[in-house]
Amino acid sequence: MTALAPPVISHLQSYEHSGKLPMPAMMMMLIGGTLAAVICGAAYGAIIWYLPFVYISVALTFGIGFLAGYMMGHIGKKFHCRNNAAMIIMGLVAGFAAWYGAWVGWTAAASEGQIITFSPLAQAAVMLGVMQEGIWNVFDWTPTGVWLAGIWALEFLIIMGMSFVFAKAAIEGKIYCESCQQWLKTDCSSPALTRMEQPSELNHQLLSGQYHSLLSPHPEKHDASQYMSAELTTCPACQQVCYLTVNHIDVTVDKEGKVHANNSNLLQNVIIPPETFVDLKANWEIMFEQREEEQPMTDDTTQQS
Ligand SMILES: [Zn+2]
Repeated sequence: MTALAPPVISHLQSYEHSGKLPMPAMMMMLIGGTLAAVICGAAYGAIIWYLPFVYISVALTFGIGFLAGYMMGHIGKKFHCRNNAAMIIMGLVAGFAAWYGAWVGWTAAASEGQIITFSPLAQAAVMLGVMQEGIWNVFDWTPTGVWLAGIWALEFLIIMGMSFVFAKAAIEGKIYCESCQQWLKTDCSSPALTRMEQPSELNHQLLSGQYHSLLSPHPEKHDASQYMSAELTTCPACQQVCYLTVNHIDVTVDKEGKVHANNSNLLQNVIIPPETFVDLKANWEIMFEQREEEQPMTDDTTQQS
């Protein structure tokens, strides 16, 4: 009997969605997501009619695009959609539904409830009518004809763009356990670690089964402004799938004293063996404890000495 050679891995493997799109997800997105987008779009259209402020209207345009995409993405994720392309397509569907709903709501508000129609022909007639006369002005200019059509086209693109981006974001960077049929949450984070001179070195370490860079604490224990941080994710049900994410973090303070942490990703959701997961987690816990023990070394003690 000869021992089996360990498998040779030439590159780190990261989590990727399986591409599965269960029928309930498809149905709920098509019906629920689209309906929600139409309703919110109609409310947006009515608000736009009553709202005399162009700038707020522009902000609302971004808002409705975001809302339509966010709701669609949320429904997709809730019903276990793991298909990026489906999320993008359904995000565009939500954007279109919100845009069309906006015209229905706008027409209803402008006609004081006299005209409530989903007919594309009737809506086109409304658009053509409004295009001739114009409807609002900015800097004493009332856009009509192609100018107004151009502004509407821009509004359409903003809603569609925001919607698909935020629908897609619902499952982006998220991990799903195919065996247990559930989305996973981050299990634990590392303490602040010393940054690596050569981030690519981390790949080599992990490929050879080492990870000492993930165990070297940052020398400035409490006020590090540039450090490395790692996160572990696993499936709480089966604990058979384990993932590692590593970021460089830059902490900046703006003029108003607000603290911002900017992440730059070195590794995202790289598949690691369960033993590595257990080992890293245990070591990080020890590192956190050591840091706690050092914490009393603050102002009081230094003043006494
Ligand atoms: Zn699982």
